[in-house]
Amino acid sequence: MSAWDAIRFYRDAQHQIGALQRRGHVRQAKRMHRRIRRCRQDACHKFSRKMINTYQKIVVGDVSSLKLAKTRMAKSVLDSGWGMLKRFLQYKGECAGRTVQIVNERNTSRGCSSCGALSGPSGLRQLAVRHWECAHCGESHDRDVNAARNILSAGSRCGTSVSGNESSPAERAPSQTSRLREAGSDAQRVAA
Ligand SMILES: [Zn+2]
Repeated sequence: MSAWDAIRFYRDAQHQIGALQRRGHVRQAKRMHRRIRRCRQDACHKFSRKMINTYQKIVVGDVSSLKLAKTRMAKSVLDSGWGMLKRFLQYKGECAGRTVQIVNERNTSRGCSSCGALSGPSGLRQLAVRHWECAHCGESHDRDVNAARNILSAGSRCGTSVSGNESSPAERAPSQTSRLREAGSDAQRVAA
């Protein structure tokens, strides 16, 4: 199960919890809550482990879950365990000697990754727009791919010392092969 399959999981379970609570089955409802929490955590662990084992450098947008939590988007943002996933990526990345950067996500959806013009869809109301064409250079974009490109280039611009990325570059002296070996043994430890 990918981390993002877990997003829907909570919502389906919500109905069941609601029904249990209405019928006064408090303990069963609580048990269901715990199950959801475990599933979400498990999905975040698996996804972050896969990312850390596959990539040397990972750049994550700093989606403000607190700000979004006040909107109608709240449920899906909280469902996805975004904050948890970021924490897992950071500590696992640090152990494995990876570069994990958290970058400012401002304008990464609006900005055209080809020419930089702010011609894309903006605001919560336009979240439904999945594909768009840059009015400036004519390039057509997939919303998520375009935003990911912008986040990645924001990561290259601001170097390695970004807030949230505590490990210093000097600590990452070992060669690529020893890093991979470390990552491998770490994965074994996790699996054991
Ligand atoms: Zn453009």
